[in-house]
Amino acid sequence: MTVRLILGDQLNLQHSWFETPDDSILYFMAEMKQETNYVTHHIQKVVAFFASMRNFATQLEKQGHRVLYLPLDADENTQELTSNIQRIIATENAKRFEYLLPDEYRLDEQLRNFCKHLTIESKAFDTEHFLTTREELATFFKGKKQFTMEYFYRYMRKKHGILMLNGETPQGGQWNFDHSNRKKWKGTPNVPSLNETAINVSNLTALLESQNIKTIGTINAESFTWPTTRESSLEILNHFCQELLEHFGDYQDAMDPDEKYLFHSRLSFALNCKMISPKEVMETVIAHWRRNLDSIHISQVEGFVRQILGWREYMRGMYWKEMPNYAGLNILANTHPLPDFFWTGKTKMLCMRKSIEQSLENAYAHHIQRLMITGNYALLTQCDPDQVDEWYLGIYIDAIEWVEITNTRGMSQWADGGKIATKPYVSSGSYINKMSNYCKSCHYNVSDKTGEKACPFNSLYWNFLAEKRSHFEQNRRMGMMLNLLDKMKPELLHAHRERAQHIISNPNEY
Ligand code: FAD
Ligand code: SF4
Repeated sequence: MTVRLILGDQLNLQHSWFETPDDSILYFMAEMKQETNYVTHHIQKVVAFFASMRNFATQLEKQGHRVLYLPLDADENTQELTSNIQRIIATENAKRFEYLLPDEYRLDEQLRNFCKHLTIESKAFDTEHFLTTREELATFFKGKKQFTMEYFYRYMRKKHGILMLNGETPQGGQWNFDHSNRKKWKGTPNVPSLNETAINVSNLTALLESQNIKTIGTINAESFTWPTTRESSLEILNHFCQELLEHFGDYQDAMDPDEKYLFHSRLSFALNCKMISPKEVMETVIAHWRRNLDSIHISQVEGFVRQILGWREYMRGMYWKEMPNYAGLNILANTHPLPDFFWTGKTKMLCMRKSIEQSLENAYAHHIQRLMITGNYALLTQCDPDQVDEWYLGIYIDAIEWVEITNTRGMSQWADGGKIATKPYVSSGSYINKMSNYCKSCHYNVSDKTGEKACPFNSLYWNFLAEKRSHFEQNRRMGMMLNLLDKMKPELLHAHRERAQHIISNPNEY
């Protein structure tokens, strides 16, 4: 008898483990407080995980596999991973324990330590999900001081022959169409909405309540629209190809107060739980593009492929290269607490209010909201990266540490001193105004530099550059900004710094 563990983000029905049912194998899955409580999660995130795990277990049983599924409220559930496994090994008199390699450092360590002390044989298997191994990025950058994503992306394009002509030349004549991914959203074309099926989530929300699981955010049948099966994940992928791909690249960096998703795919949860694979997502998107060359430009497809083949695999590689030290990095020595309005949305800054409210209502904000609104604000106000990480890890449906911490601590908060982002992603109000329609309905004036009604991002930006300039003096990409800072009239800089200090000390007044 072999016990095989399947974690909540390992729902890969295509895995070779499941090719043939075998009565001598027992698949074990568990809902546990260890996982619901390591951070305060959004309620939709916990529900989405549990619903997907339950659907997955049912599917495995239908295919003839033996499954032991432990719900959160089962009497025998110890609520901790290794003691649960230990008990099942004993009750089943198992001779072997097998698991799929976890994507999170904490679980990897927990299982490695557990296996060291097991008296039966154990083995870890690949999840057969990613296009890279854990170590591949570290090997690629061996001996290098900089770990630029673009070079890794080109290597991945060549290695996997994705959007390539004859193995060496990028299709469309260039590797990267980033410069054409910056259109402001003006309301046309229409964003087609997904025909969302309401899922009955009341049994799971009641379960969480009865077990006193602390959560953030809200849930109801209308707002919960996440795929919890492989079929519904494929439907979202199909909707993306049919309706959204055509404009994905163009509006990748755009923001609008009334459009929560714009042309973003909403595939991250399905991908991160492994209900669908990055390879099949890219193959489906590229095949759809090839059938519609007249209407879909390569820049839209390349923009999407770059996120999955480039950024997603890159972040995973950086995570395994840098952990566990990465989780403690705070190069800029930022220590301020994250303001209360991150949990309520109660702020007069419209861009912040909309991005936070949407996150609380839907457990989702698209990339540029996470990076250039909430992340930008947290960095400019010099918030403690531990608190920033905790918020991002809790609130988003797709937040699993390997991809959350690299994006948050690295890309967004520059707490790693530039390992991931070659320069900090900070901006004043003018960038937000350029890329979004928030400013025209905001309480603040984006073009005012100082004064009561001036956009808080303006003073915060110049204050940040002045206060942290020693970190960026050698950074060529920051040269122009530091030049502008140096040329600023001392009275104006003084006014910016005073206002910024007031905002930082009294965030909830703004
Ligand atoms: P789309 O815009 O449609 O992109 C397609 C896919 O590309 C995504 O589903 C995702 O799998 C991948 N992708 C895009 N950008 C990135 C990226 N920077 N890193 C890795 N994969 C990427 N993504 C997560 O999956 N989990 C997180 O916890 C997470 N935390 C983030 C925190 C911050 C501060 C920032 C700036 C970004 C974070 N991201 C995270 C990356 C990105 O914002 C989300 O993947 C994306 O918003 C998910 O929505 P989507 O599926 O509609 O993406
Ligand atoms: Fe945000 Fe400033 Fe624009 Fe208001 S004016 S929406 S605070 S950038």
